[in-house]
Amino acid sequence: MTTSPDSTTPRSVLVTGANRGIGRAIAERFVAAGDRVASIDRAPSPSDLVPDGVLPVLGDVCDTASVDAAFTAVEEAHGPVEVLVANAGITRDGLLMRMSDEDFTTVLDTNLTGAFRVVRRASTSMVRRRSGRIVLIASVVGLYGGAGQTNYSASKAGLVGMARSITRELGGRGITANVVAPGFIDTAMTQGLPDDLKTKYLAAIPAGRWGTADDIAQTVEFLASPAAAYITGAVVPVDGGLGMGH
Ligand code: NDP
Repeated sequence: MTTSPDSTTPRSVLVTGANRGIGRAIAERFVAAGDRVASIDRAPSPSDLVPDGVLPVLGDVCDTASVDAAFTAVEEAHGPVEVLVANAGITRDGLLMRMSDEDFTTVLDTNLTGAFRVVRRASTSMVRRRSGRIVLIASVVGLYGGAGQTNYSASKAGLVGMARSITRELGGRGITANVVAPGFIDTAMTQGLPDDLKTKYLAAIPAGRWGTADDIAQTVEFLASPAAAYITGAVVPVDGGLGMGH
């Protein structure tokens, strides 16, 4: 069973965007470990459901009031959030010269400000309890860069500064804040890429394969475990070596 250093009971875990892909795999790992797991998603549909054992809560990370209401629902059901995984994210790729303000700000609002909104809301009870684990899902692209991904890359790089600032602000309160930087992972987000681009990306990955959602989930589970109590402000790459050195 997953426990925090000061808690032997199952924890209240919140994962944003757990109705598919990486978030889903993360939620499944915490459920398997015996934790009380909730997910914030915009609109889970019958074909796109959160995993068994996860409390699905409707919410939009782009809307502060919606985040607040979702947290209140999670707290009523599971107690204060002890482990927060800010996973919800989108892409709106496009070449710099043609990228609209809206494509830039929408990605920033979801990936970066969205993470800020949930971390801010979770931090109140974490500070009070002097305990908490925060994991932000960024991307190899945040530090490596990506042509056609000015918006996405900026949003993911911003998460690194955010985690490190949280670490400096709240590190003395028993709270850790880390970034996981996935490489290319086989999910809906990447399945739509053109085949020639996929072949090019694969050739650049030293491990010689795409990552799985569970590759990321295992790392998140570790960062939330007692074994990772002294790891904070870190950027943990899970990318088959794609971004090494960055
Ligand atoms: P998916 O597109 O499969 O899933 C994204 C999730 O985020 C969905 O559950 C989606 O829910 C949710 N989401 C999006 N916008 C919002 C919002 N405004 N409010 C609440 N939930 C929202 O992506 P992945 O699983 O591939 O990616 C998960 C995370 O990992 C993202 O942050 C992504 O940037 C990152 N990542 C992914 C990589 C990859 O190769 N796949 C590589 C590096 C990083 P909804 O049904 O509402 O759309």
